[in-house]
Amino acid sequence: MLPHSAPITPASIASEARALEAELARIPAEAAITLLAGRYRGRIALVSAFGAESAVLLHMVARADPALPVLFLDTGKLFAETLTFRDRLVQQLGLRDVRSIPPDPAALAARDPFGGLWAFNPDACCTLRKVEPLAAALAPFAVWMNGRKRAHGSTRSALPLAEATEDGKLKVNPLAAWDGDAVEAWRVAHGLPAHPLAGLGYASIGCRTCTSPVAAGEATRAGRWRGTGKTECGIHIPQPAPNGDTDNRTA
Ligand code: SF4
Repeated sequence: MLPHSAPITPASIASEARALEAELARIPAEAAITLLAGRYRGRIALVSAFGAESAVLLHMVARADPALPVLFLDTGKLFAETLTFRDRLVQQLGLRDVRSIPPDPAALAARDPFGGLWAFNPDACCTLRKVEPLAAALAPFAVWMNGRKRAHGSTRSALPLAEATEDGKLKVNPLAAWDGDAVEAWRVAHGLPAHPLAGLGYASIGCRTCTSPVAAGEATRAGRWRGTGKTECGIHIPQPAPNGDTDNRTA
């Protein structure tokens, strides 16, 4: 386990991730979240986009510890429906520490003064509106959870349950083994609301400028940055910096 005061080294984080992977693989997802919430209390956060599949993980976290911090990147480009859905879930689940994280206003004014960066440099836009704000918001935490799943395919098809990040944190993917059917079954069984856009074909929901519905048979994330070749916003992969240099942040 991560000690409260011992120095965290790349070797200790990698070792902890391997041990956690083996431990979490033996128990159901909700038990894993209860274990994580208790073991890392005060040092763990959930990162959620309040998207199409988000209610399940938020529900499990709320049952384990409703005061566990939930970090929500409010990019300024989200669907109004996502903000409404966030507020509804917060109220229904009794989440007590949901933090909406905006981009830095000075950085926004300097690098995207007219709000159109997404159209000609989406990597730089995601860095400005997601990667950098999340890195700052995660600074107080040693461990973070997120809702990625192997069923999303592409870069996520071999997703572990626990991994060490290059910036020395533990990143946990408690629902890595879940697919869309399992998510929907849990949502229905527990009376959780659906995202208002889910019924309109939006299988994965990010910013309104960069998200489109998917057709039957398309991959879950096919509607994200459609036609651009971009598949991730950068909070889960090394991100090119706005000047084109490689930036190895993993947030
Ligand atoms: S998803 Fe689109 S609008 Fe949102 S931060 Fe990334 S490029 Fe910008």
